[in-house]
Amino acid sequence: MTKDNRTVIVTGGSRGIGKAIAQAFVDNGDFVAILGRNGEKAQETAEELGNAKGYSVDVTDSDSIKDFFKNLEAERGGADVLVNNAGMQYISAVEEFPEEKWDQVIDTILKGSFLMTKHALPYMQDQEYGRIITISSGHGRRPDKFKSAYVAAKFAQLGFTKTVAMENAQKGITANSILPGATNTSLIQNQLADLAERDGSSEQEALETHILGAQWMKQLIEPEEIGATAVFLASDGAAKITGEDLGITGGES
Ligand code: NDP
Repeated sequence: MTKDNRTVIVTGGSRGIGKAIAQAFVDNGDFVAILGRNGEKAQETAEELGNAKGYSVDVTDSDSIKDFFKNLEAERGGADVLVNNAGMQYISAVEEFPEEKWDQVIDTILKGSFLMTKHALPYMQDQEYGRIITISSGHGRRPDKFKSAYVAAKFAQLGFTKTVAMENAQKGITANSILPGATNTSLIQNQLADLAERDGSSEQEALETHILGAQWMKQLIEPEEIGATAVFLASDGAAKITGEDLGITGGES
């Protein structure tokens, strides 16, 4: 079934990878709801992209999510594609990890994916069509020092997404994860600064040691490459791809 002008939700769509995903869906002819805690920034991005609208939504807050879906139902009738992209990083050794930062990372990445999926699924089930795409990470299958909460949340997102895929496999709904390697966004730039400070090294050394050390191509991924893959996973050609983990890593062992 081909759908035109689908309603696509991109959490964390105001910048970085989410913005590139939103752009790719707009270019594909879809409408994109761009979600971020900073609603003004989300709306600014939406106006830049075109067929899009920004919404102030915190994916860790179920009331904020319920209000969003009420508005989206009134404006667009529901949702066809959900991209769980919002995420954050915090760099610390386990024994020093502040408990509130641990909760914030896990809640943003894992609980946020759960809450958004829980509220999007009924619309998709009613129309027997839906595409759920989770932006996990290369760290969804490969741990790294000082990123314990992030690694734990990214591993868990894969299991969650596969379970969603199984539960909905006969309802016209697919659910897949994309695992980007280090991608050129503010998240990676901030991480480099933190890692360099921790190691007493330069950011270039931190890039080579922590970020590109295990990667074969020795190049950062560009956000647009993630956008193109998300549009493919939501296309008719990918209708039988479900429960999969698709790496965009530049190669890694
Ligand atoms: P950025 O930090 O550049 O962007 C994060 C986005 O998430 C922003 O739009 C931010 O908007 C939003 N966000 C953060 N917290 C919340 C929240 N609680 N509720 C709603 N929105 C929120 O990150 P990237 O673009 O680099 O990363 C996007 C995703 O890709 C993340 O899940 C990340 O883990 C993953 N990833 C990134 C990689 C990289 O190297 N950059 C590699 C692999 C995966 P606002 O602040 O307004 O809320």
